[in-house]
Amino acid sequence: MVWLFDYDLTLYGTEERCVINSLDHRISLFVQKTVGGDFESAHKIRTDYLERFGTTLAGLMAMNNTDPDDFFDFIHVPDFLTYPKKAPEKLALLQSLKGPRFVFTNGRHDWSEAGMAHMGIDSAIDGVFDLKQLDWVGKPHDSAYVKMEKWLAEKLAGMGVAYPENPKEIVLLEDSLRNLEPAHRRGWTTIFVNPTTDTPNWVDFHIPHLMNLADLKL
Ligand SMILES: [Mg+2]
Repeated sequence: MVWLFDYDLTLYGTEERCVINSLDHRISLFVQKTVGGDFESAHKIRTDYLERFGTTLAGLMAMNNTDPDDFFDFIHVPDFLTYPKKAPEKLALLQSLKGPRFVFTNGRHDWSEAGMAHMGIDSAIDGVFDLKQLDWVGKPHDSAYVKMEKWLAEKLAGMGVAYPENPKEIVLLEDSLRNLEPAHRRGWTTIFVNPTTDTPNWVDFHIPHLMNLADLKL
C-alpha cells in the first residue's frame, strides 16, 4: 500500500479545530490587508470567494492578483498560529503501516511540516506534496490527482519502491468527501476520516478519527 494523508482535520482531528481556526483568522486578516476596509467586510468577501472560487486563495488570485507565496508567507507566521498537540500514539500508528506514507495537502508544505513536527510524527512521513507543487490548483480538481500520481511515480522510483500496479493500493485518507470523490473515480482506496455519521455508499471505509485506522483490515 501507498498511504496518502490529507493534513488539516485528517492527521489532526476535529477536536483540534482551533488549529485550522487560527489559520482562518490569518486568512481573513490577509483579505482585509488586500482589499482594505474593516475585518467584518473582509470576512464577507472571503466567504464570497470561498463560494465562487472554492478557496479564498483562488478568489484572491483571480480578483486581486495575489501572489500565492505572499499569501502563505503572511498566514504562516508561527507566532500567530496554533499547532496540534504532541501525538505519540499517531506516530506509532503511522509507523505500523506497511508502505510509504505521504501528505497530499491543499496547503503550502511549511504549514503541514510545522504541524507534524509539533505532533512528533514527521519522521513517519516520507514526503509532502503540496499546493505549490500543484501549481496552486488543488484538490478536488482532477489535475491535482493526475499530478499526484506523477509525483508519486518519481518519488517511489527514488525510494526504490515499485509503483502500485493496482490503483486500489493507493490509499487516500481525507476529512472532505469532495476531495475523496476524484480519488474514488481513479480507483484509489478511499478512507473518509470524519466524525459525521453519514457515509456515502461509494466510500471504501469510514472512520471517525485517524486512530481508528488501526481497526481497519486493508
Ligand atoms: Mg482536510
